[in-house]
Amino acid sequence: MIVAVPRETSAAERRVALVPAGVAALAKREVSCQVEANAGIAAGFTDEAYREAGAEIVADRATLLQAADVVLQVRTLGANPTGSPTDLDDLKPGAVVIGMADPLGSPAAATEYASRKLTLFALELLPRISRAQSMDVLSSMATVAGYKSVLLAAYELPKMFPLLMTAAGTQKPAKVLVIGAGVAGLQAIATARRLGAIVQAYDVRPAAREQIESVGATAVQLDLATDDAEDKGGYAKALSAEQEDRQREQLAGVVAQCDVVITTAAIPGRRSPLLITEKAVSAMQPGSVIVDLAAERGGNCEVTQPDQTVEHQGVKILGPTNLPSTAPLSASQMYSTNLINFFSLLIKDGELTIDTEDEVIRDTLVTRGGEITNTRVQQLLE
Ligand code: NAD
Repeated sequence: MIVAVPRETSAAERRVALVPAGVAALAKREVSCQVEANAGIAAGFTDEAYREAGAEIVADRATLLQAADVVLQVRTLGANPTGSPTDLDDLKPGAVVIGMADPLGSPAAATEYASRKLTLFALELLPRISRAQSMDVLSSMATVAGYKSVLLAAYELPKMFPLLMTAAGTQKPAKVLVIGAGVAGLQAIATARRLGAIVQAYDVRPAAREQIESVGATAVQLDLATDDAEDKGGYAKALSAEQEDRQREQLAGVVAQCDVVITTAAIPGRRSPLLITEKAVSAMQPGSVIVDLAAERGGNCEVTQPDQTVEHQGVKILGPTNLPSTAPLSASQMYSTNLINFFSLLIKDGELTIDTEDEVIRDTLVTRGGEITNTRVQQLLE
């Protein structure tokens, strides 16, 4: 079985799907890896390191893809805003593509895979169950994004994060609010705490309260009656319009008291909930910073522009959409480990085996044999 690792083509993407340690791990499972020249260089992995791990370096992308039984990518068509189906034309029918494909945000891309009889596994669809935790790329990338969001805010904030008592007087600690305490939010809380900030956090899921407190923040309580805000997959459900209004109104008071607000609130397959209005931004102190990690799906803040820093009445609002790519070495190592753990489910005695009785495989499979097999994606295309 030949596994190909192409260079990522999305603008400013610095991650690579498989790191040299992953090549060595696959070699033990009788899988040969071919890596496009310079595929890992932006993440800190040279062609030489891949060769030493046992990979063959291929200079020509089309040659690499034409020989592949399996392609491992970070952003494949669907999740690559600058992507075109050209790569797919080079793959042989039946070839397997594994990567992030944003199947719920860009379901139409699935038809491109199906029409070429390609098998697509979209890692965003992995079920959030214990057995799949070691494969969970969303958690890994959210961990990096949460960490980096706080560093960005600290860099932009005109004051320091920690309490400092010096001969030149006392500097009060920065006040940070994290909205959305999933994987990214909890990592943001922990990072802001390590820098010495006073941290509050809010999430609509009642279960998040204990997690917020366990990483050292104070949980903000709103009067919203959201006891049933969590679905059986552990994700937040969308609130009613009335609940959303009340949430925005009550959050505005907390936001106004904070130096930094990090927002991460998301509902799978939907626009991000709007939590901070332009009016709430205007009520913040000049110099305050908002980092909106939901910018890619419309943003949690009304003023956010994706991948831009907007200055609104002295408040800076950052909308980074690909923070994992700004720590490409760590992000690629985590992604690669997740990917190998998933891919290992598909290898039996060195052969590719797709067992759709396994829910981890079935839920992640999007297209196979010319069909869109995933019911969630099918529904979005109806
Ligand atoms: P996510 O990225 O989908 O959303 C981020 C956070 O935003 C969530 O905590 C969500 O509750 C919150 N949110 C949504 N709407 C909101 C609103 N209106 N106001 C405030 N907050 C709002 O979430 P995620 O980080 O991917 O994690 C989702 C859940 O899955 C969490 O419970 C997490 O612990 C769980 N999880 C489980 C596993 C596993 O068992 N394998 C792995 C990862 C995450």
